[in-house]
Amino acid sequence: MYQKLGISKEVLAFGEKIEQSLLERFAEIDRVAEYNQLKVIHAMQECRVNESCFNYASGYGYSDRGRDVLEEVYAKTFHTEAALVRPQITCGTHALALALSANLRPGDELLSPVGKPYDTLEEVIGIRPSKGSLAEYGITYKQVDLFEDGSFDYENIKKAINNKTKLVTIQRSKGYQTRPSFSVKQIGELIAFVKSIKPDVICMVDNCYGEFVETIEPSDVGADMIVGSLIKNPGGGLAPIGGYIAGTENCIENCAYRLTSPGLGKEVGASLGVMQSFYQGFFLSPTVVAGALKGAIFAANIYESLGFPVIPNGSESRHDIIQAVTLGTPEGVIAFCKGIQAAAPVDSYVSPEPWAMPGYDSDVIMAAGAFVQGSSIELSADGPIKPPYAVYFQGGLTWAHAKLGILRSLEELVRRGLVTL
Ligand SMILES: *Cc1c(COP(=O)(O)O)cnc(C)c1O
Repeated sequence: MYQKLGISKEVLAFGEKIEQSLLERFAEIDRVAEYNQLKVIHAMQECRVNESCFNYASGYGYSDRGRDVLEEVYAKTFHTEAALVRPQITCGTHALALALSANLRPGDELLSPVGKPYDTLEEVIGIRPSKGSLAEYGITYKQVDLFEDGSFDYENIKKAINNKTKLVTIQRSKGYQTRPSFSVKQIGELIAFVKSIKPDVICMVDNCYGEFVETIEPSDVGADMIVGSLIKNPGGGLAPIGGYIAGTENCIENCAYRLTSPGLGKEVGASLGVMQSFYQGFFLSPTVVAGALKGAIFAANIYESLGFPVIPNGSESRHDIIQAVTLGTPEGVIAFCKGIQAAAPVDSYVSPEPWAMPGYDSDVIMAAGAFVQGSSIELSADGPIKPPYAVYFQGGLTWAHAKLGILRSLEELVRRGLVTL
């Protein structure tokens, strides 16, 4: 079958050898997935999920049982008082913007103690001016950068916390930066430090790409809110849209009042038939995340053994599903992405090309053959065509697909003479 899918004997043999060296780590990933699977099933049982939860609700969505029970399931799984899980939350950025704008008031200050936040949040906060930013509403922003080695600058974080500091935002995943992603334990230490200086400050964690990578979540170590996208990990590849916020009763009520309207809150917002995919996707998410993690580790080890810089490296512990591979040339980035595309179940016959994209200062090439548009829990890769010519790669709904994608990317590099095995 590999031959039929365009993988040569040499590439397959190379990949299988790397895979053999990773079996112990894969077993550990499976153990985490097993634990998280039980956690989700337990929550679903405790919340008495039943067939009526999958019913179609329209209009105002008063007493939409499926929606309300799903929010209980998220809260139980993540050990929070409450959750907001809605198709009306359009993406991760929207969920984060909602959590921030709902819990901050004019005159308050937002602090990021982990350096620059994810690109799209710059306009939300007003770091880059934008209509309707927090800055326009009189909310100020402070940032404390990480040390060179990615550790927290506790001294300057302490100095940055003042009587206006209302909310601290902590991004778990590196996103598209080169800093390390944080473990849940590290996040817990940072939260404890912040709360030791100012106990009533709200600690929010951008949990994108982190859900179910470990057996605990930031909400288990003191986060007042965790926030993410359903077309990443917790949607399990089935959710067609959506975002979630899980946290304290008070924070979530503020979010609900902001999402719909003061007074209406969680009571409105019909789920419009997406509930089965939300439940089933959440149920599948621990194993889907495990497949994506194996893919990331497989890619790291393949490309590291060929001499390319990879972040995280082949042996580091994992705190999210993103893998960066520095290929060093535009041709390398393009070949890698063409390989990922060629391995997709959808749109495999098209060939991605670098192009100018809004919000980027160089051409970008993107590969994705996904069932859900833009879903990055599905196998996908993209790379800006500029030094150091790195490609960011994530997802894979199954380990077998992730493996095929990575082998196909390697095949493309070999065919073009960019790599010799
Ligand atoms: C993806 C991501 C976001 C934004 O989510 P979108 O769904 O793309 O809007 C925010 N933060 C991090 C760390 C992310 O990975």
